[in-house]
Parts: sequence; C-alpha cells; structure tokens
Amino acid sequence: MADTRIFIGTDCGGTTTKVGAVKADGTPVSLKLSQRPTDASGGRKAVLDAWVRAVEDYLTEYGYAWENVGGAGLAIPGPFSAPGVLGVAANLPKEFAGWDIGSDYAARLSAAAGKPVKLTVGNDGNYGGVAEARLVRGTGTGTVLMLAPGSGLGVAYVDDRGLPLDGASLVGMEAGHMPAPLQLLGMPVFSCGCGRTWGCIEAYTTISGLPQLLAVMLERHPDHALASSTASVKDKVLSLRGLAQKGDALATEIFDFQARALGIHAASLCQAVDPAYIVIGGGLMDPESTTEAFRSRYMDTVRANAEPYFWPAQRERIRWSQAQLGDLSQAIGAALVALYNAAVS
Ligand SMILES: [Zn+2]
Repeated sequence: MADTRIFIGTDCGGTTTKVGAVKADGTPVSLKLSQRPTDASGGRKAVLDAWVRAVEDYLTEYGYAWENVGGAGLAIPGPFSAPGVLGVAANLPKEFAGWDIGSDYAARLSAAAGKPVKLTVGNDGNYGGVAEARLVRGTGTGTVLMLAPGSGLGVAYVDDRGLPLDGASLVGMEAGHMPAPLQLLGMPVFSCGCGRTWGCIEAYTTISGLPQLLAVMLERHPDHALASSTASVKDKVLSLRGLAQKGDALATEIFDFQARALGIHAASLCQAVDPAYIVIGGGLMDPESTTEAFRSRYMDTVRANAEPYFWPAQRERIRWSQAQLGDLSQAIGAALVALYNAAVS
C-alpha cells in the first residue's frame, strides 16, 4: 500500500509564517510558498490559531486530511531558553520569552488531528540547511555546511543522517557570531546586534553590518556620490546591490569584501566540520534579486578566499553550490526533520 503520510513544516518568522510539507519519500508536496501573518501582536493563542488554520488550509489545498499528517516540525528563530521554549528573540514580542511553544503547538495540532502529532522544534537557520542538504546530496550521505548571508548570517551543518547540529541549547552553528579574523580583513571591530564586542563575522558579511562597512569604505572613497548623498543610511545601504550590478566600483568592492570575509569564515568552519558540500544561500544568491554575473562573481570570490586555508584533500573533495529553495527552505527543512525523526522512532 502506498505511504500517504505527509509531514508538515511551520516556519515562524517575526512577521510572516510559512507552511510547507514533504511526502514520506522526502519530496516537497509543493514548491509554492504558502505564507500568512504570524499575528504575534495578538498574543500566544492568536499565533497558534493562525498556525493551525494555515495547516488546515494547506491540507485542503493539496488534497490531504489530518489523518495523513505523520508528524510536524517547527522552525523558529533562536535563542531558546530550553528545547522548544522561547528565549528573548529580536523579532518576536518580549512577552513570548519563556513560552513553551513546542508543547503548546503540539497539543493544538494533536487536538485538531484527533490523534497525537509529534512535533520537532528547532532553529530556523539549521532547518533551512536540512532542506538544501537534501537537494545537494541526493540519495548520498555527504555532510553539508550551509552559509546564508541575508539580513543576518544563517549557518547550518547537516550530518550524514540529514539532521542539523542543534547543540544542547539549540544554538549550535550560530556561527555568524564567531569573531572575524580582523588582521586578515583589515577592518576595525564592528558592533553586532547580538551584543558581542569581538567583531562578529555576521557584521562583515551581511546587511546587518553594511552601514558600518559603508562608512569605512566611504572614508577610503570620499569622492563617491554616496559620500555626499543626503539619502538615509538605510537607503544608501539598500542601493548597493543595484549599484554593484551596474558596475559601480565602490559597491563592487564592498560585495567583494563581504565575499572574501565569508570565504575565510567558511574555511575556518571547515577546520571544525570538514563537510563534503558547501552551499551558499541568502539574498545575494536569490535569482529574483541578483544577476547571474553577480552571483558567479560572489561565489568565485568566496571560494577563492576559502580554498587557500583548506587542507589539500578538502581542496579536491569539497563541492560548492548555490542554495535553491530560497524562502521555502526553512519550512521544508522543518518538515524533513519531522520525517527523519519519525523514521528512526
Ligand atoms: Zn554577533
């Protein structure tokens, strides 16, 4: 008899929640993005109501029922105060801190399904890596390091079972907040939203640190139009991607710098996890917002700055690729972890 189970993934963001699902063989039910407001301002019950409704609508849309649900995964931004219990997250209301969101959501799903639904809770960036890992390694078991620079730096390591390194507090692979090698980068210590003052690599590789990076670069290029522009810092920073793709020298230098910093950090992480694959994701790799030429230059620069620090065997073996799932990766990854956990339990 065909296995008609599906596994649901819920990706909780500060403003929107995305739902995805995979079948028992791991293939996504759909690659269409299903998202709606998280409704965090309405409080805990409103959030859970919205999620259960979103799952119900998803099941209906794709011709499934609750009886098909074999398990569920929830991707949420860290930090956590205990597994499944929210800490103080930057993009969720403060009063959510201490909420055992995993237990409450599992209870609501089980009530709606009329049977126990096992829920796996994890860090959203790690779950994104799980979904991308399944694509790059296919039916193999190669381990995967993913780096996804966007507003912050998402990093994940996925092991030979397809599962992420979550750590004891679910903050495993929060590698964006490791220190950057400033002597190689030739940059001052940038501040980071996490509060650490050791120069987190996230500040040198993502949008979060661009205001500081642009300020340094404009001191070096005082004649650039942005130096005398009256636009807000935010607008200046957000104009850089477009400028780089039109060949602007300063913007190009900034993204080359970010790619160099990311490459060195990738090599640093390879000393620890020695992956078979490295996947680069995030907004800069999004085909909707960057050109092929831009993405190629970025990838080539990351790689060229990582490889000198590899061991010889790693230079031969490690395979590089660009992430493919974009915004859907975390919901699909959450669903996959639920599937993998069901398979071993
Ligand atoms: Zn930090």
